[in-house]
Formats: sequence, C-alpha cells, structure tokens
Amino acid sequence: VFISFEGVDGAGKTTQVERLAQFWQERGREVVVTREPGGTSLGKRIRELLLADPNETITPRAEALLFAADRAQHVEQIIRPALERGAIVITDRYLDSSLAYQSGGRELTADDVKHLSMWATNSLLPRRTYLLDIDPRVSHARLTHEEDRMESAGENFQQRTRRAFLQLAEADPERFLVIDATQTADAIGELICADSANLVE
Ligand code: C5P
Ligand code: MG
Repeated sequence: VFISFEGVDGAGKTTQVERLAQFWQERGREVVVTREPGGTSLGKRIRELLLADPNETITPRAEALLFAADRAQHVEQIIRPALERGAIVITDRYLDSSLAYQSGGRELTADDVKHLSMWATNSLLPRRTYLLDIDPRVSHARLTHEEDRMESAGENFQQRTRRAFLQLAEADPERFLVIDATQTADAIGELICADSANLVE
C-alpha cells in the first residue's frame, strides 16, 4: 500500500509519518518510510541543490524539473520495489507537493506540472494521501530550524500553496483525507491509524 503525507511546512507531517510507521511495524508489517525531496542518494544531492543556498536563483521550470528528477529516481529505486515486495510505503511528500508548490506557489500551469509528475512517476499515485491542513502563519511559527530556500519564499507563496493543496483534495476525495492539523498530535495520529486500517489488508 502506498501512502503519502502532504501539507505546508511545519504542518506536522514528519511526526505523523513516524507514528503511522510504528503502528504498522508493531503489527508485523514491513514499512518503508521515505521522503521527497531526498529519498535516494541522487535525491539527496538534488535536495541540496534545491534548498541549501537561499541566495541561489532557480527558475520555476528548472525547479519543477529538479523536483521531478528527484521523484523519478525515488519511484524507480525505492517506492516501486518496496510495493512489489508487499511493503507499506509511507512518503513524506509526493507529487501533490509539486502541484501545490510549483503550480500553486510558483504559478506554473497545473496541467504542465501534472503531466511532468505523471511522466516522472510513470503514473504511480498513492492509494491514500493525508493532507495535514493548517494556516501557514501558524505552522511556520512552529519551525525550529533555519528557513530553507523554499520556506523563505514568503507569506503569499505559502498561502497559495495551502489553497492549492485543498483544491487538489477537493478534486479527488477518494484518495485524499484532509485533517485539521491544529489538533493534538495524538488525536491526528489516532485518526490516521484508524483510517489506514481500511487500506491495509
Ligand atoms: O518537507 P521538507 O521540509 O523536507 O521539504 C523541503 C522543502 O521543499 C519544503 O520547504 C517545501 O516547501 C519544498 N518543496 C517544494 N516542492 C516540492 C516539494 C517540496 O517546493 N515538490
Ligand atoms: Mg521543510
């Protein structure tokens, strides 16, 4: 089963990914936890290029292609092989992040980013996507590390990204579950674990 977590920076994705992984490990399942960008060794280098230097100017199309390259490598090297073994794959961000950040945020056309993402992944979509929804003003204040290049893109950018995530969820209610990320981590975790039990046979 392929599961993704999405949401703006500081929404609590990483915490919930770990909880869900532990939940299924305790039940004897093989769980592969991974992330984008940076799920592979090539991906880690791409992540550095994308995020490390806040003064680097990367054009929107170049940025979209770098995220897509990271994702193509990730699907081929990590995600598909794990799914073929029958593992539960949980990824911290996937193609909806590109639709939200590179289209919603950077304002490339949604169709272009979608085609690029589908090409990069050979059309692999998650069975379930948990969208942790929160006002970026609130979540941004939670960040404890120094802002990376994307996180310093500004308030309007973050708000457009949030709206884009919500629109994606609205367009595909079968795949998405939208969760109010201002709830406690325990409450959110219980909700997600319960939902995931319907996906895993
Ligand atoms: O979730 P994480 O902090 O690891 O993501 C790294 C950064 O890359 C985030 O700040 C996020 O805003 C950005 N990002 C992006 N487009 C994607 C995936 C992540 O702009 N497709
Ligand atoms: Mg971040």
